[in-house]
Amino acid sequence: MQKNEIYHAEITGMTTEGSGICRINNMAVFVPMTAVGDIIDVRIVKVLKNYAFGIIEKLITPAPGRIEPVCAVFRQCGGCVFQHVDYQTELKYKDQAVKDAFTRIGKLSPEFEPILGSQSRYHYRNKAQYPIAEQDGHLVCGFYARHSHRVIPFPECPLQPEIFSKILHALLPALESCHISAYDEKNHSGELRHIYLRKGFYSDEIMLCFVTRVSIRKKIQKLLPDLHKAFPKMISITESVNPLKTNVILGKSVTVLSGQNFITDTMCNNLIRISPQSFYQVNTQQAENLYEIAKSYANLNKNKILLDLYCGAGTIGLSMSNCIQSLIGVEVIPEAVENARQNAVLNHHANTEFYCGDAGSIAELLLKQNIFPDVIILDPPRKGCSDLTIQSTVKMHPSQIIMISCNPSTAARDAAAFYNLGYITNKVKSVDLFPGTSHVECIVLMSRQK
Ligand code: SAH
Repeated sequence: MQKNEIYHAEITGMTTEGSGICRINNMAVFVPMTAVGDIIDVRIVKVLKNYAFGIIEKLITPAPGRIEPVCAVFRQCGGCVFQHVDYQTELKYKDQAVKDAFTRIGKLSPEFEPILGSQSRYHYRNKAQYPIAEQDGHLVCGFYARHSHRVIPFPECPLQPEIFSKILHALLPALESCHISAYDEKNHSGELRHIYLRKGFYSDEIMLCFVTRVSIRKKIQKLLPDLHKAFPKMISITESVNPLKTNVILGKSVTVLSGQNFITDTMCNNLIRISPQSFYQVNTQQAENLYEIAKSYANLNKNKILLDLYCGAGTIGLSMSNCIQSLIGVEVIPEAVENARQNAVLNHHANTEFYCGDAGSIAELLLKQNIFPDVIILDPPRKGCSDLTIQSTVKMHPSQIIMISCNPSTAARDAAAFYNLGYITNKVKSVDLFPGTSHVECIVLMSRQK
């Protein structure tokens, strides 16, 4: 097989990154923006030892479920991979990806409950971090092109709340009038790196955080009253200076420029305070459904102690703390722990305690204090649980472990580790928190073998 050759093929599978797969001469060829069942002419663009990449040269017979993408820049943007198929088809791919992860990576055979789709396919996100660049002498913001850090100006992402693009359209010229320059990654020069926005799904409160290389505080001070006036719900304007050459967006600290350093939203009937550093599920409504499912799996009652590891601002545990004896939450980001403690007070959940530190290390500490939770919820970042977290969780011998994960591969790996330590995987349910993208959340119920 050689570059630029054209083959006739049928798409027969989908990768977890949302790329279609066809087989040509016994080799897997990955073709983005295709659908299972498409008959295509594929142009080979790159050949490696065991597989190749191609692009559609001609779509001969479209698969059922194909639709016109709503977004004008779907083909360029690195964000969405499933705008060209209807939502049912997208959900089918995601459900299969989760099943494959648990059966192939985890070698497990749990009951798979049907995937839960999101109420909204568009405008569901409550958070955006827009990279800034300078093009033709103007500040622009948008998104990174696929597999690159080239900014394509397009502030109208259909996954984001409409007000975000209104804010950006007002903000960019105002920043230009203050002579703010865009950060240049190559030369590590310039000032403004990202504009970071969050909006409370229920409260509509808006947080604006300028992520900069050097502070722009003095230069933009005079803009702030106008911003509040134009967007009355914008109650938090902050700056985070990040002077490092890094892909990490936020700097070490966040300073208030105007208003307060948090917004408040509602989740599962609790008021939730979130600061810029705290993790907060991007699809609020669907995260509430996710927490409800976790609660139904947890089989709680007033005698039970619940440990919520990787708890962020405390949202999961607090959604259940009315039904249990006590809640212990553990989170590594100090600002998120502070939010979790404030959220407990704000909602009168006195039976709660939050620790700041590594999940595994704090779990070891709790063990030394003879604390044995009945149920443990794990909601780790994409890389999954550490060995220490898994070991210490098992040493606490909870009757149930519920793992929530946005990465089915590491979730399956970790579920297999728990299986080897005496916990069977009973049920797995996929919950789509991220329509349009290749990402999917899953929730796993494990129980101790008698
Ligand atoms: N359960 C929360 C947050 C889940 S995201 C929610 O639903 O909103 C994962 C969280 O794990 C993040 O808040 C992240 O800061 C935290 N985290 C990452 N590594 C950690 C570690 N080693 N120990 C404890 N928390 C960690």
